[in-house]
Amino acid sequence: MKAAVVPALGEPLEIRDVPVPEPGPGQVLVRIDTCGLCHTDIHAARGEWPAKPKDLLIPGHEGVGTVEAVGPGDAELPVRVGQRVALPWLGHACGHCRACVAGWETYCSTPAYMGFSMDGGYAEYAVAWASHVVPVPDTVSSRDASPLTCAGVTTYKGLKVAAPQPGETAMVVGIGGLGHLGLQYARVFGSRTVAVDVHDDKLQLAQDLGADHVVDGRGDQQAELEALGGVDVALVTVPSPAAMRAAHAALNPHGRLVLVGLPADNRLELPVFETVLKGISVIGSLVGTRNDLTDCFDLHARGLTRVVTEPRRLEDVNACFEEVLAGEVPARLVFEM
Ligand code: NAD
Ligand code: ZN
Ligand code: ZN
Repeated sequence: MKAAVVPALGEPLEIRDVPVPEPGPGQVLVRIDTCGLCHTDIHAARGEWPAKPKDLLIPGHEGVGTVEAVGPGDAELPVRVGQRVALPWLGHACGHCRACVAGWETYCSTPAYMGFSMDGGYAEYAVAWASHVVPVPDTVSSRDASPLTCAGVTTYKGLKVAAPQPGETAMVVGIGGLGHLGLQYARVFGSRTVAVDVHDDKLQLAQDLGADHVVDGRGDQQAELEALGGVDVALVTVPSPAAMRAAHAALNPHGRLVLVGLPADNRLELPVFETVLKGISVIGSLVGTRNDLTDCFDLHARGLTRVVTEPRRLEDVNACFEEVLAGEVPARLVFEM
């Protein structure tokens, strides 16, 4: 099969002909239709994080496709051959550690991550755990389902834990793959919305998606946000500590700062005094559960979200990485296999 492989961390990806993987017991073989390009794939392929991916990684955790075969054994699996499924970041969770039992499976003590510790969807086929793929409704196209599988579920869950109220203001910083969906979920939660980005086309996109206020991060962001009366929830999708600090500074009393972007330098300096005196919560949030993703598919099927994508060929993966880094893409690039 054709696959995009990371030959060594920091090297350009190579399109290779590799064997179709074989599903083991409890696993399925999925023929991939589409896979979104998440900024995480760039961090992973470049080895930018404290945690490093597997050797000869095939990235991709927004794969969507059809189950073509199931692994050996007679265990009853939750999906069947012919079913269309999504292969999210949480490739597997144990189901019995404290986090799993409490309903926080993304914080499992022994997780497997698609396109990081397991090979992912930048290929014609991928093997996934049957228990952790998520069925895609017939009314949701694969091209739309791909970005929902990480960008969607991550921002939906990040807002869900911060629980913006109808009388509150929720700010989404970075209107890229994650943020363009986060902005729409903030509306779904019923709050007034503020979008921040540093590229003209992303600011226009935020306007088109119905943001109540659009703020250009290149200007005097703090003054503009103060004039709006501050914000109650700030979801920061930008991998930038400076953007996180600026969002913190805009929070009202009882504000919630949700950290989602994962900066390479991994450090954020927080003013303790303001955090304490305003009762601010700083929340980290990692993707979402299978149920959260099912919710995202349902919200989309009900017409409550619009997924902005552009199709690409897997062969162009290195050029696509550059386009995303330059902020030149319309929200999400999606590889069509
Ligand atoms: P993206 O490149 O599509 O979007 C980033 C957006 O931020 C772009 O629109 C860019 O113009 C904008 N931006 C850049 N600098 C800015 C600034 N200073 N102020 C405001 N906007 C700015 O990336 P993405 O795929 O949306 O991913 C974003 C980050 O989220 C990455 O670090 C990724 O690894 C991380 N991520 C985290 C999770 C999680 O579970 N926590 C899940 C997926 C992705
Ligand atoms: Zn992702
Ligand atoms: Zn677990």
